[in-house]
Formats: sequence, C-alpha cells, structure tokens
Amino acid sequence: MTDYKQIVDFIRDLYGNSDFVPLAVPKFIGNEKKYLNECIDTTFVSSVGKFVDRFEEDIARYTGAKRAVVCVSGTNALHMALMLSGVERDDEVLTQALTFIATCNALSYIGAHPVFLDVDKATMGLSPDAVKEWLAKNAEIRNGQCYNKRTGRRVKACVPMHTFGHPVRLDELVAVCKEYHIEIVEDAAESIGSLYKGKHTGTFGKIGALSFNGNKTITTGGGGMLLFNDEELGAYAKHLTTQAKVPHRWEFRHDHIGYNYRMPNINAALGCAQLEHIEEYVADKRATAAAYRDYFSRMDGIEFFVEPENTRSNYWLNAVLLPNREEQQAFLQYTNDNGVMTRPIWELMNRLPMFEHCETDHLTNTQMFADRVVNIPSSVRL
Ligand SMILES: *Cc1c(COP(=O)(O)O)cnc(C)c1O
Repeated sequence: MTDYKQIVDFIRDLYGNSDFVPLAVPKFIGNEKKYLNECIDTTFVSSVGKFVDRFEEDIARYTGAKRAVVCVSGTNALHMALMLSGVERDDEVLTQALTFIATCNALSYIGAHPVFLDVDKATMGLSPDAVKEWLAKNAEIRNGQCYNKRTGRRVKACVPMHTFGHPVRLDELVAVCKEYHIEIVEDAAESIGSLYKGKHTGTFGKIGALSFNGNKTITTGGGGMLLFNDEELGAYAKHLTTQAKVPHRWEFRHDHIGYNYRMPNINAALGCAQLEHIEEYVADKRATAAAYRDYFSRMDGIEFFVEPENTRSNYWLNAVLLPNREEQQAFLQYTNDNGVMTRPIWELMNRLPMFEHCETDHLTNTQMFADRVVNIPSSVRL
C-alpha cells in the first residue's frame, strides 16, 4: 500500500504548509479592486459598461476567436452555442459521459438527447476513434444530414469537452464530424489557456464555450463566454443574449425570443483584471503540474496524468490515477481526513437518473477513469 501520509506532507509543503489545502480557489494579484471600484464610482455595475465590451475584445484577442460574446455562466454559453448550431428538440448530440453536468443540462434545455461515447486514454476527452466507430455503425446520411438509423433521430452536433484543461484530438474530431455533417460545439469551460497545436481550444468547432466560475483558471465570480470564428453569428449571439432588443434610443422593440444572458459590468471588470495575468497563472499551474509529475514518477502505484502530445494544457485540475476503485476511495478518505482536499471525477452522466436511459457505447476508458481518477489541489500558488 502506498504511503498516503508522505503524499499529504508533500502537497501541504507545496502549498506553504497550510492546515487546509483546497482544491481550486481564485487568486487576485492585479487590478481587480481598481476596476471594481471604477464600476461603483461610475455607477456602471449592471449589464452595460466598458468592461463588458473590453472583456469580449480581450478574450477574442487572447484566444484568436473572431468574436467573443459574454454570458452569465458557462452553462448559458453552452445552451446558446447549441441553439446557434441548429440543435433542435429531439435531435441527438454526441458527447462524453465523463463530464460535468452542465454539458448535458445545456442540451437538455433544448430537448435534445445525449449519446455518450468513450473518451481517449491519453486525453480523458471525447475519442475520435469512438466517434468514428459509432457513426460507422449507427449513422446514415439523408439530404445532407446525419441520422441515427436505430432511433431515426437527427444527429446534429458533437460536444467534446477538454477535461481538466487537456485538449482532445481536435483535428480528427473536426474531420469526422465534417464527413458526417455534424457541428462541433467545444465545451472549453475548463480549458482557457490550453492550446492544441498552438491554437486556443474553443476555436476549432463552429462555436466554443468558456466558463469563469469561481473554481476555474480565471474567474468573474460567475460567467461564461462564447467563441466564434464567424463574426456575423457572433453578432447574432450578442443580440439573442441581450433580449433580442432592436437598437434604438428609446423604443422597446424585440424581434426574436431573447435571453437575459448578459454578464454585468462588475463581473466583466473582474474578468478584465484576471485576464491581464492569465499567462502567469497558466505558467504557475504548469509548474505545479511539473512538481507533481516529478514527485509521482518516483512512486509506485500512483500515476500522474500528463498533457497529451501536441498540446499545452492549462492543467486546470491536476489528476492522479490510483490502481483501482478501492484504493481510490481509501486515498480520498485519507487526504480529506488530513487537510488536503481531493475529489473523484464526476459521477458518470449515464449513471444519473436524468440520463441513465441514454444511448452509450462500451465506455471502456470512461469507466476506467471513473474508478481510478482523483483530483488533487491545483490552485495558483503565485
Ligand atoms: C464549469 C463547467 C461548465 C460551465 O459551468 P458554469 O458554472 O455554468 O460556468 C461547463 N462544462 C464543464 C465541463 C465545466 O467544467
């Protein structure tokens, strides 16, 4: 049996010998207070203000997206992304069972159905091999659209998720989805700062979604962002997320069912300040990951999960693999009893009551990760 005490001591030491080491907490080292005060002093605390526009521009520049549109949460951003990708009631959406609930909630708001396919061993995210295999077996193309032969439903979109910040094999996913006329919506909620072949995650599919929840790499308190390569579609998203109001100085006219998904200026102010330091945050998280990798490489029975080839991961949450579920549970118990916060990977989506009836493939790697992964403390240490 592995010496858990030694691991707890190492992690405590890494985080300055604190009595309690949380999993992931925010860090404010820049202009946060200054920008927040500016909102209060100018009274621009709500849904319009210069920080809203600036945050969108800054994120577009940072990610290389043609247009970025803020939302009040990553879940809202995913909901909007799926709607704008043409997903409708009773369509099917290919995604992973190994994800946070927001991915599935967003497609459920539309009345679409998830199909859960396996993840890659090397990325922990949706496997292009699993997608290819499932489509070859189950899909047929009619009138330029993909249908599930068994259910008769249209397969409209595919939502890969970059688990813990590790990019999936995007080139191959883009190619297979193109072949089958399926739109890609990237759930990049965990992967701000993560690159695939030098390009920012969230910019490979039709639309990408980021999250700025409090536990993410940078935070706006709560919030999200849509990323577009199509500027016009981005402008349309801005319209829909702001109640679809036709611009006019005094008239209230709306030309579509709209959504109040806009982020308040105070949240965007926090985001602007956070984004100014993102490269330091990512470098710091990568240094923490390197320390863990080095430490666990000298230990039998526990494997540290490293970034896939051709990627730069932000290492949002560090992950170790225990040999099996029994040791996973024992490790969780010991660390949480001894001041080091750890947690297992999310309960698989196909095991939750809302989604247990949904179609899946064999989920071989998914199951393996569920039994073995534990997330260990990952906050920025600057
Ligand atoms: C955090 C997260 C989201 C979005 O969450 P919000 O709290 O709504 O911002 C979506 N998908 C995944 C995988 C996430 O981790």
